[in-house]
Amino acid sequence: MNWEDFRQWGRRAADWAADYHAGLRNEPVRAQVAPGAVLSALPDAPPEGAEAMQAIFDDFEQTILPGMTHWQHPRFFAYFPANAAPVSVLAEYFVSAIAAQCMLWQTSPAATELETRVCDWMRQAIGLPDGFTGVIQDSASSATLCAVLTMRERALDWQGNKAGLSGQPRLRVYCSAEVHTSVDRAIWIAGLGEENLVRIPTHGPTRAMDADALRAAIAADRAAGHQPAGIIACTGGTSAGASDDIAAVMDVAEAEGLYTHVDAAWAGSAMICPEFRSLWAGVERADSVVMNPHKWLGAQFDCTTHFLRNPDDLVRTLAIQPEYLKTHGADGIVNYSEWSVPLGRRFRALKLWFLIRAHGLEGLREMIRNHVTWAQDLAARLEATEGFEVVTQPMLSLFTFRHLATADLDAHNQDLLNRINDDGRIYLTQTRIDGALVIRFQAGAFTATAEDVAKAYDVITELAAAGT
Ligand SMILES: *Cc1c(COP(=O)(O)O)cnc(C)c1O
Repeated sequence: MNWEDFRQWGRRAADWAADYHAGLRNEPVRAQVAPGAVLSALPDAPPEGAEAMQAIFDDFEQTILPGMTHWQHPRFFAYFPANAAPVSVLAEYFVSAIAAQCMLWQTSPAATELETRVCDWMRQAIGLPDGFTGVIQDSASSATLCAVLTMRERALDWQGNKAGLSGQPRLRVYCSAEVHTSVDRAIWIAGLGEENLVRIPTHGPTRAMDADALRAAIAADRAAGHQPAGIIACTGGTSAGASDDIAAVMDVAEAEGLYTHVDAAWAGSAMICPEFRSLWAGVERADSVVMNPHKWLGAQFDCTTHFLRNPDDLVRTLAIQPEYLKTHGADGIVNYSEWSVPLGRRFRALKLWFLIRAHGLEGLREMIRNHVTWAQDLAARLEATEGFEVVTQPMLSLFTFRHLATADLDAHNQDLLNRINDDGRIYLTQTRIDGALVIRFQAGAFTATAEDVAKAYDVITELAAAGT
């Protein structure tokens, strides 16, 4: 294909995308294929000769598409959303066409400076005070890894990268059991070892870290000769939306001189609505905060905003300046590749800029408020329905529930969930709360309506009745 052919296929792609989205409500949300079905439909060996674009496109529609789970389906209520507003898809189309590698200021000044601007727009939008500086990372997992590496270097007086960790005291990091598994991975990769990730018990309906237990764990570690390095708190945990009392965590962190990272990967989007900010009161005292515009907000995956109270700590941890990356004669510029683990950087700021401008913060707030209201309504309806129990109350737009049965509740609910997802009209996933299997529900699809959420009630109650 050359760029003249692209002209025609690009137009077809735009038509195809609009038709795809227009027809989504009629498709099963979760792919209904058996394991191996797609693989076995694909030729074993690559073609030696060129194939026509029409043939490639036909196979895409016939072989690939049926094996896709439709994340942009309005009745996608599983996991968390990965919303891609049409305008952010368009931005990615332009970004793909330009295909710039935006690692340094000089490799695309506009990409760097737009990133600076939109990160500051996001900072204002979610109510973080002036003084936080943002950067776009590829994922919350990467941002959390960056925070853990910074904790490590700061605790080792910036010697870890150079001297390694052997012979050093055991560095300790504290969090609850409700944090995302990306925290475990960050601890592994940073070389701290899982045994040094100290799980603090939680309490209360928000499943927040117990600050007294946190203080006691730190004291015990110091007494044992270990070195506390940092605390990772969460706002809107992945399982059921657990949210730490950030102010209480910060009291401990400040008294102990520890670096703090707040993971609000999902819930951070809701902070564009001032009425939800009490959920993370105290966040303005944290060192590092991550939220994913690529989840609820609608900036096509991937787009993670990472806010730092002092970016110098991060840059001191990650900056490498070989001669070939030096930008001579340009002082006072930012090279964002010094703020992240990968060197190469996609131009991610464009979609966030398009998104915020095309919808306005007020438009995005309306979507989030609707989702929260609809999830609360559904939870209340299920709670009032014979045979159902709401296990964790809505945290923003996320709650968990189960259907009651006389024997083996876990198996009963797993069976109900399987039948719901095989049915295809909605898509839900499970989690465990205090050991018991429960069904998660979150409303968050960009195009969801009140009717879509009401349909979830109908499907859940219909299939629960059919199984008893
Ligand atoms: C989704 C999620 C993550 C992981 O986000 P990625 O961007 O996929 O790495 C981390 N923490 C929380 C709380 C999440 O919900």
